[in-house]
Amino acid sequence: MTARPAGGHVVSTPGESETDGSYRDFIRQIVDEDRGRVVTRFPPEPNGYLHIGHAKSICLNFGLAAEYGGTCNLRFDDTNPAKEEVEYVDAIIEDVRWLGFDWQDRLFYASDYFQRMVDCAAALIAKGLAYVDELTADETRAYRGTLTEPGRNSPHRERPIAESLDLFARMRAGEFAEGAYVLRAKIDMASPNINMRDPALYRIKKAPHHRTGDAWCIYPMYDYAHPLSDAFEGITYSLCTLEFEDHRPFYDWVVRNCPTGATPRQIEFARLNLTYTVLSKRKLLLLVQEGHVRAWDDPRMPTLSGLRRRGFTPEAIRSFCERIGVAKRDSNVDVALLEHAVREDLNKRAPRVMSVLDPLRVVIENYPEGQVEEFEVQVNPEDAAAGTRRVLFARTLFIERDDFREVPPPKYHRLFPGNEVRLRGAYLVRCTGVARNDAGDVIELRCTYDPASRGGSSPDGRKVKSTIHWISESHAVSGTVRLYASLFTAENPNDESLGDWRTLLNPESLVTVTGARIAASTASLPAGTTVQFERLGYFCVDPDSRPGAPVFNRTITLKDSWAKVASR
Ligand code: ATP
Ligand code: MG
Repeated sequence: MTARPAGGHVVSTPGESETDGSYRDFIRQIVDEDRGRVVTRFPPEPNGYLHIGHAKSICLNFGLAAEYGGTCNLRFDDTNPAKEEVEYVDAIIEDVRWLGFDWQDRLFYASDYFQRMVDCAAALIAKGLAYVDELTADETRAYRGTLTEPGRNSPHRERPIAESLDLFARMRAGEFAEGAYVLRAKIDMASPNINMRDPALYRIKKAPHHRTGDAWCIYPMYDYAHPLSDAFEGITYSLCTLEFEDHRPFYDWVVRNCPTGATPRQIEFARLNLTYTVLSKRKLLLLVQEGHVRAWDDPRMPTLSGLRRRGFTPEAIRSFCERIGVAKRDSNVDVALLEHAVREDLNKRAPRVMSVLDPLRVVIENYPEGQVEEFEVQVNPEDAAAGTRRVLFARTLFIERDDFREVPPPKYHRLFPGNEVRLRGAYLVRCTGVARNDAGDVIELRCTYDPASRGGSSPDGRKVKSTIHWISESHAVSGTVRLYASLFTAENPNDESLGDWRTLLNPESLVTVTGARIAASTASLPAGTTVQFERLGYFCVDPDSRPGAPVFNRTITLKDSWAKVASR
């Protein structure tokens, strides 16, 4: 286990939570000690798409339940009608399922509990534990006090119970304007914890809700709705991120004082932060709204739909989440670790093919015109069961422009005039000349091949230092390839000392290559299919593909920068 400081953050490395089978993170230690039932939930608010940080929470909640023979619910925390939309609900359902988790028939909505939450509120009022207040927003703020000064009681705090019950009923009936009244818990205005200074339970909001329509004009506050939803569902462990630690006393207060009979326990863990990435839903929404990316599923986005379109697999994301583990301290995980996980997974499963991104035409002058030869090569050297594939060779080919230099720099072993290289799986070829356009640029190479080197061997044992990929001109389809780099240039785009986070966007995060020569066998694969273009990386068919005009996203290059980081 190693940790290296980076921009003032701790960067977790693999190994941190890799287990020898006996390691238990702090949450699993608690559960082991309790020996009780494990009922968890994943509670997204449908106000945006899920991102890789949510994947950490999903894997934790569903994973924990599965390990202990318990259950995990999917519950929408849809208590704020202003920002929530059905589009998000549908996307979240799709993403959690895609990640590989199953809630069976336990799909719930906090909005389904609105009536029970109102009943609990009435019970609190009846017990003298809640009251209807009518301070203005400014007054409420002034009465609340500060971190160092206690708050003051509202003049309406001692309103008779019957009067609060009546006002609360009329709030619900729609008699009052927004902001005229709120229902507050009656706890302690002098508490050192501001969350305990008579927090609001209900506010008037005359907004239609995506599920309950116009049925309600009051909506519960998150801090009140969440513990109740947990209690109604019999949740035993309510896992949430660290910023809710200070809210736990109120969580427990609600559970203790409302007649639900359940006692869920809130446990906080550190949220995931990733280098070169923003994970705030507010910022992700702005990226979409301001057109910095195409949509929520833009392959540069850290959303699950973006990662999916980019070609990341659920297996890779789950393996990443397992490696980062859960802990109590904040951490900033190196995005290279996520990339390492996807490479590791795709290496095992992606079929290999040859395609050329930046084509340079090659004519093999001593190869018979019109002849086509077939070579059999392995689909995936990592997976013998994947079998073999056919590669077609002919007189006119394309190679990568970068695999040729007219004047080779030192230690350059690829193609240059007079040099011989191996065309992967086919023949040894030697460059004998070039053809130029009027501007003098090299537009075509002339080569000869050695017929005795069929399959790429050198019959006399002569050394050929380089093997390059290639594609037959008449067996290739012209296509578009989108190459991605990180969306931000700064390791921590959330660092406000660097200025507005949008100024840190990487102008080269997307490079679109047109006229790439794609192996015809892969040109009509369905969207979402992943292949390895040999030497270039893993690529995934984009839904923008059309017959005869394939579009590929580069998921990731082959080079693993993580391996370097880890060995430092
Ligand atoms: P907000 O509440 O500001 O809209 P959120 O990121 O908390 O944003 P939710 O939809 O409430 O979004 O999150 C659902 C669950 O996912 C919560 O339990 C939350 O704690 C967890 N979660 C969100 N972001 C992360 C993250 N970066 N790492 C781990 N868990 C996260
Ligand atoms: Mg939240």
